[in-house]
Amino acid sequence: MSKRLLLVGAGHAHLEVLRQLKEESMNDVDICLISPSDYQYYSGMFSGYTEGLYSKEETRVNIRKLAKETGVHFIRKMAKKILPDHHKLICMDGAVYPFDVISFDIGSRSLPPDFFNSVAKSIKPNYHFIDYIEEIRQTSQPLIVGGGAAGTELALSIQAYKERNRLPGQVRLITSETILPGSPSWISNKMKDLLMKKGIQVWENERVQEVEDHYIKTDFGNKVRHTGVLWLGGALSDQIFRRSGTEVDEKGFALVRSTLQFHNYDYLFGAGDCVTMSDHPELPKSGVYAVKQGPVLFENLKNYLTGEPLTDYSPQKNAMYILSTGRKKGFLIYGPLVHHSHRAWKVKNKIDREFMEKYQ
Ligand SMILES: Cc1cc2nc3c(=O)[nH]c(=O)nc-3n(C[C@H](O)[C@H](O)[C@H](O)COP(=O)(O)OP(=O)(O)OC[C@H]3O[C@@H](n4cnc5c(N)ncnc54)[C@H](O)[C@@H]3O)c2cc1C
Repeated sequence: MSKRLLLVGAGHAHLEVLRQLKEESMNDVDICLISPSDYQYYSGMFSGYTEGLYSKEETRVNIRKLAKETGVHFIRKMAKKILPDHHKLICMDGAVYPFDVISFDIGSRSLPPDFFNSVAKSIKPNYHFIDYIEEIRQTSQPLIVGGGAAGTELALSIQAYKERNRLPGQVRLITSETILPGSPSWISNKMKDLLMKKGIQVWENERVQEVEDHYIKTDFGNKVRHTGVLWLGGALSDQIFRRSGTEVDEKGFALVRSTLQFHNYDYLFGAGDCVTMSDHPELPKSGVYAVKQGPVLFENLKNYLTGEPLTDYSPQKNAMYILSTGRKKGFLIYGPLVHHSHRAWKVKNKIDREFMEKYQ
């Protein structure tokens, strides 16, 4: 009898699993992909789409089509809970899917539950991105919450879109830490200068406590007016793993070993933002790691199903980030190094287009 492998979420690592399945199918394995949208939007191109440099089609992968080409059944649903001991997955609509092996690549969330009923929007899961960004970039005082790579990049891209289309208004950015926290101070300061030079108003070390329809209130008692709030604070976990009783870290991300297997369950695998590696708990929630985990995940799923030994994933020490800053300029960060130029954007554009070509 054939075995059933469930892939949950169409994140970076699962895109790679699908791609490799095109070249090497798994015998006697029935594979299903469960994800809530027909498309996977690529965050590396969010800034370019926001500014108006890329089209919708350039920014996304049609996963229904990709699954069909690889002989994988695509099920458009959102997973809610795992019954790990019963080998079952339950979806939001109550549908139940049995499995022999299951793998998660469902990304992270960003909007804290306290603000679920407010006007604040989050682009995660990422199929919300296009609708929300198209709405907010038209408004006169969009407020970005979060000063990390995603927040600064989208603030700059919305500002660039406004300039390009001669739309009045000013982007605002508020963050509970410094700009680009975790980077050396000269890099944070350089990015802050750049944001301000572009006309973006910045509040650092101030936490949003209330979100009202036309303003937010901070822990300093300041009121900041807005015409829309986009929440890009730090990565939060989906509740699925807590709900299922599998071992999680303090934020609710599934704990995995170096083989990308869950603690206590050899037949549960995970990759990308939704997991924390027990041996590398400090690893940032970044697409670059999800991409590198893809080939190891494919090998390990295949080997687990055929009883072969599994391999370990070991993350690279430093990852390179290039943030788009508008008008085709890039802000490249590699460890303590930083470089802001048109050349850096060209490198980013090349990397992102090559990534998409592999899956589109
Ligand atoms: C504006 C912006 C720019 C960024 N730029 C970069 C960058 O340049 N480099 C970088 O390394 N990182 C970047 N990041 C971070 C990066 O987006 C994430 O780290 C990355 O997307 C995580 O990939 P993933 O594979 O874990 O999941 P995702 O890419 O988030 O994919 C998750 C998938 O799972 C699906 N899903 C979600 N929940 C469920 C569920 N319950 N059931 C079934 N399916 C589900 C989603 O629809 C989606 O298909 C950026 C983030 C943002 C917001």
